[in-house]
Amino acid sequence: MNKNILTTQKEFYRTQATRSTDFRKSQLKKLKRVLKENESRMYEAIYLDFKKSEFDTYSSELALIYAEINDALNNLDYWSRTKRVGTNLLNFPAQSYIIPEPLGSCLVLGAWNYPYMLSINPAVAALAAGCTVVLKPSELPKNTSRVIAEMINDNFDIGFFHVIEGGVEETTELINQKWDKIFFTGSVPVGKIIYQSAAKNLVPVTLELGGKSPAIVDETCNMAMSVKRLVWGKFMNSGQTCISPDYVLVHKSVADQFVEQTIKEIEKSAYSFDNCNLVQIINQKNLNRLKAMIDPKRVVHGGEVNEQERYISPTVMFPCSYDDVAMQEEIFGPILPVIIYEDLDAAIQEINKREKPLAAYVFTKSKRVRKKVLSEISFGGGGVNETIMHIANSNLPHGGVGHSGLGTYHGEHGFRAFTHYKSIIDKPTWFELSLKYFPQTPFKLKIVKQIFRIK
Ligand code: NAD
Repeated sequence: MNKNILTTQKEFYRTQATRSTDFRKSQLKKLKRVLKENESRMYEAIYLDFKKSEFDTYSSELALIYAEINDALNNLDYWSRTKRVGTNLLNFPAQSYIIPEPLGSCLVLGAWNYPYMLSINPAVAALAAGCTVVLKPSELPKNTSRVIAEMINDNFDIGFFHVIEGGVEETTELINQKWDKIFFTGSVPVGKIIYQSAAKNLVPVTLELGGKSPAIVDETCNMAMSVKRLVWGKFMNSGQTCISPDYVLVHKSVADQFVEQTIKEIEKSAYSFDNCNLVQIINQKNLNRLKAMIDPKRVVHGGEVNEQERYISPTVMFPCSYDDVAMQEEIFGPILPVIIYEDLDAAIQEINKREKPLAAYVFTKSKRVRKKVLSEISFGGGGVNETIMHIANSNLPHGGVGHSGLGTYHGEHGFRAFTHYKSIIDKPTWFELSLKYFPQTPFKLKIVKQIFRIK
């Protein structure tokens, strides 16, 4: 059945309908309208799945989807224009230009933690670029997946934009087909499976993966503001955020102050379902995985687990070390290990011994420290004295490096992820240099060398 959808989408793509930016804009406007009409259904579904509130769903998902659609609507003509570039002497007389061309029929695979945004935003980028899309949302939030499928499949042509629901079996079948692009958001192990399957058909991929994203808190930072932003970024969505600060490295001289302030900030935030700032752990499997990371000896705040409600209270563990269980894999939950450092160089060395993180954050007033962290650690993206918010600026490409991912999106970067840039040299026929034609003489070689300016 899935094979037929790819064939249907390839046929639709070949009609050239998606080449028109007016067509793309009308479809994006329709998507925005469909989402707006279905907002209340979306809130209900996500609350059933993991008690995510309307406030959280709007602010961390729908608002970002609308912003992405608006950005595409406003800039699509500019992004899609044929771009003239300079022509070198060797090619004189000629025009040189680059034609953005949609990649074709694309597969988008979503993750569960921001199930609307992580499914729909890559699809928005693909549709804006003029591609057709088959979207498979994550199967874990099943109500959310159902709503996405119904909204899209009831309103869009199957050949242009279609949702397939399912889990590992359906994904496996999909990734073995000859797409023009696969865009995957999820874990590193599954990212490797996707990459290998895509390679068999030379299908280009974007892999939005995860990792352990550090936050460095130094002795010069504005402690109150740093803690406020760190606690917000760590515990939003109960820590189930790919760019959430995974652990904190704090300078020895301010470590006690940091922990004390962090506990106060968590208490002040009064995390609860009623206050709309807490969501459930997505399933029992993840709850068990997270429980095993809590070391009672190190818990200085939180650590309560409610199996019935799939809930873990915001937990701080201090002092931790890189040998702790919680430091062996991405936490992806409301557990914050705090490690003391004395020497920034050594702290950076420790981070650099591990896989490149998706995000990194530094809290400091020191220009030297900021420069050092930003230049000596390789990571996807991040913030200085801030967490998470870099993804809310579509001028900034979002994506990992090394094990945290391959390729980027958001705004024009998303458009580029689904676009091939076709290079054209366009020559008139009234003039031709005889240099490239036979016979090859020493005089011609001299001229060629002069043209290339090789001394
Ligand atoms: P996941 O890798 O378990 O699942 C993602 C998708 O892969 C789902 O659609 C699922 O059906 C499919 N899948 C799962 N197992 C598969 C298999 N064996 N073969 C083929 N397909 C399979 O990831 P997740 O649990 O949904 O998300 C959590 C991970 O995603 C974390 O590591 C997080 O950091 C990362 N993430 C990254 C970003 C980003 O923007 N870079 C955003 C959100 C989440």
